[in-house]
Amino acid sequence: MTELTTAYWHAQASQLTPKSQTFIDGQFVDAASGRTFQSISPIDGRVLADVACCGEVDVDRAVAAARRAFEDGRWADCSPADRKKVLQAFAALIRTNGHELALLETLDMGKPIASSLAVDVRAVSNCFDWFGEAIDKIYDEIAPTPKEAVALITREPLGVVAAVVPWNFPMLMAAWKVAPALAAGNSVVLKPAEQSSLTALRLAELAVEAGVPPGVFNVVTGMGPETGRALGLHMDVDGIFFTGSTQVGKYFMEYSAQSNLKKLGLELGGKSPNIILESYRDTAHAARVSANAAFFNQGEMCTCPSRLVVEKSIHEEVVEVLRETAANFAPGDPLDPATTMGAMVDERHTSRVMSFVDVAHKEGATIATGGKRARLDTGGCYIEPTIFDDVHNKMEVAQQEIFGPMLCVIPVENVDEAITVANDTCFGLAAAVWTDDLTTAHKVSRSVRAGLVYVNCYDADDITVPFGGYKQSGIGRDKSLHALEKYSELKTTWINVGP
Ligand code: NAP
Ligand code: MG
Repeated sequence: MTELTTAYWHAQASQLTPKSQTFIDGQFVDAASGRTFQSISPIDGRVLADVACCGEVDVDRAVAAARRAFEDGRWADCSPADRKKVLQAFAALIRTNGHELALLETLDMGKPIASSLAVDVRAVSNCFDWFGEAIDKIYDEIAPTPKEAVALITREPLGVVAAVVPWNFPMLMAAWKVAPALAAGNSVVLKPAEQSSLTALRLAELAVEAGVPPGVFNVVTGMGPETGRALGLHMDVDGIFFTGSTQVGKYFMEYSAQSNLKKLGLELGGKSPNIILESYRDTAHAARVSANAAFFNQGEMCTCPSRLVVEKSIHEEVVEVLRETAANFAPGDPLDPATTMGAMVDERHTSRVMSFVDVAHKEGATIATGGKRARLDTGGCYIEPTIFDDVHNKMEVAQQEIFGPMLCVIPVENVDEAITVANDTCFGLAAAVWTDDLTTAHKVSRSVRAGLVYVNCYDADDITVPFGGYKQSGIGRDKSLHALEKYSELKTTWINVGP
């Protein structure tokens, strides 16, 4: 067994030549214009690759390839059992190539290698396994009509599906869409975020190796306002499924309205409230779990519990434990398996996140810990885990999604105020409450407008449960069998069996 040391990962990184052309119809090709953009590692500023910068022409080619593949039935007409075999072979290849995929992910967007391997690669391969396993076990319906007729209710694939995803979990956000879309028989065009294209390209190559026919899974790399927009406005894309910011999610609704009214799924931002109450038996435990969840993945998490709402009676104790736990998240070399906090995705995002330190200061919040950049000598993008204390929910730091390692602590008098604060946001992705009182737990989880509620835990996760938000956190759900609904049309067929 190879020992996964820092030296091992650095050696592997120096030998890596990432795929950087775009992937259309089973082939790596240049953008028609020949244009490229640099993929820069936020770990140390090194250039990883010159990636194809796709324009409208390339998007047209990818959509046409996906359309041809869909119409001739090379995938859509395979039996569900055959699609299952291929998707499970794909999942197995993801596991076999796990080191390479984890390394590409870490180099490209900065997260710790230990997370890339144990969280991302594992969850991605499990996602393809699970949707593959599911697809030949789902039955269609027959309606309870009068006996003169039989009415079949069947699910059919949408056709050509586009997925546009962000950089915080590049492979996983793609898998949450591509796996159910492929399982349901669609052809897919995936656009990764410009900051993190490399694993998407390798995944598409592995899919073909596993037996996904060419043209069924295509990747177009490029810039959001160009490549992403072209997919959104395309007249021959039947559905577009997006994960990213609320602002860009709204653009996709406009694109759909301006073009062919393509189906839409949106997984957007969050500013999740995490309520710690005096009635929970172990304040320190709640605070530790909360800090771990807030700083995981550099805080670049749509479900980040970024608003910690705490009863005043335990406020001081909570902040003390948060500070102690934050100390475990000192930014380190992302290729060191012991690192818990890696690099921020890029320089632009780093400065945006850092600008909230001044905002917090001006608004009168206390900076309990952090607030500075770190590891400046590396040439990379690092930020200390940061806690803003004495935050009021109306402040900008409590309303805006920071998407970095910055946690707001909001003291409140009681449960009722906690619920009001929790719901005073345009978002509704996740929420949590810590209490040993069953009635309170139930009351809070019923009152909070959010798609995911955690009671006495945070970030519990499984492919079997739906994931997505209320309000401006989105439309539709990823994961679980419910996800398949997004990638299917329902058809009613009446058969006259009367006289
Ligand atoms: P983003 O700026 O919205 O970008 C997401 C994707 O959209 C990228 O592929 C991007 O391409 C593309 N894009 C950007 N501008 C576009 C435009 N005008 N037209 C079409 N496509 C466009 O989000 P991000 O900064 O990558 O990711 C952070 C956001 O994602 C946060 O708000 C976070 O909460 C959200 N998120 C949500 C979930 C969830 O499941 N709810 C999960 C993860 C992240 P380029 O990168 O090339 O610009
Ligand atoms: Mg990058």
